[in-house]
Amino acid sequence: MKIIDLRSDTVTSPSSEMRSAMAQAEVGDDVFGEDPNVNRLEEMAAEMLGVESAIFASSGTQTNLLALLSHCQRGDEYIVGQQAHTYKYEGGGGAVLASIQPQPIEFEPDSTLDLARVKMYIKPDDFHFARTRLLCLENTQAGKALPMHYLARAASFAKDEGLRIHLDGARIFNAALKRNVSAAAIASSFDSVSVCLSKGLGAPVGSLLCGNGELIREARKWRKMLGGGMRQAGILAAAGIYALQHNSQRLAKDHENAALLAQGLGEIDEIGVDFHEAQTNMVYGAFSPESAALLPEFLQQRGILVSGGETVRLVTHLDVAGEDIPRVVEAYKEFFSG
Ligand SMILES: *Cc1c(COP(=O)(O)O)cnc(C)c1O
Repeated sequence: MKIIDLRSDTVTSPSSEMRSAMAQAEVGDDVFGEDPNVNRLEEMAAEMLGVESAIFASSGTQTNLLALLSHCQRGDEYIVGQQAHTYKYEGGGGAVLASIQPQPIEFEPDSTLDLARVKMYIKPDDFHFARTRLLCLENTQAGKALPMHYLARAASFAKDEGLRIHLDGARIFNAALKRNVSAAAIASSFDSVSVCLSKGLGAPVGSLLCGNGELIREARKWRKMLGGGMRQAGILAAAGIYALQHNSQRLAKDHENAALLAQGLGEIDEIGVDFHEAQTNMVYGAFSPESAALLPEFLQQRGILVSGGETVRLVTHLDVAGEDIPRVVEAYKEFFSG
């Protein structure tokens, strides 16, 4: 029986074609700038995002941290969503390693940050306060693609307020497909963008920070300091190249599957399905505490892996096929009819 793993899109494993690209990758020492596949991947990402330059790093946590370190100085502040990955799920790296103070703000229901609220939190130029330097957005955030007109407004807001603006675009290609624009159209509103290769794009490892040449040169220094200078990293970069070339458009299939799943689960009275019009590859379901306690094991016995909790995030990806969706819906129906 095939295991259907809906816990995250990070669980995808490299296909045999991707593994073969990795096995055949020509390599060099990337700290010397001599790995042809790393260089090619960085050029390719910069081109796809319409920016001057990009740097390959081990994870999205590291590329977000590189952005904080490159935009801000010690004692500066960044404004970020309360539930943002950069703030909440990265060990407080900005504060711990960069001495940058976070100023978290609640996300709006559509995953934007209300710019009027952001403005209230920008500190005056006064020695009592940290210097507000950077605004961080996330797209997709909780699976929702931000509206394009909002991105344009956020960009001009940041400019007017003298702030830099960074995007945690771990899933920028999902956002681009949902909004029917290029990734470059999204990136054009930002001074830097972090992109994950290891989510729905299906690479085993790796993220890219994209921005102008000066910013990426700065990031290169910080990456080395963080111990992120990898040597024959072309084996990993080859997987990233394969992912960008073959897997960025197929994310549409994941969105279709998520919509099917939302529809199927929506027919079950005991599940509160939350599927916002801007959703991409994630479906949120809410259950009673009693059901929530029993569901993960019940589903696991039927080859379906989900996270625990009274609100669950189900994520579709490369390793979930269309034909898997009815099996998942049936398993939930079986649970609630039992
Ligand atoms: C996964 C993710 C990251 C990066 O996570 P890593 O596991 O460090 O690669 C950053 N932002 C968001 C929104 C993510 O989902």
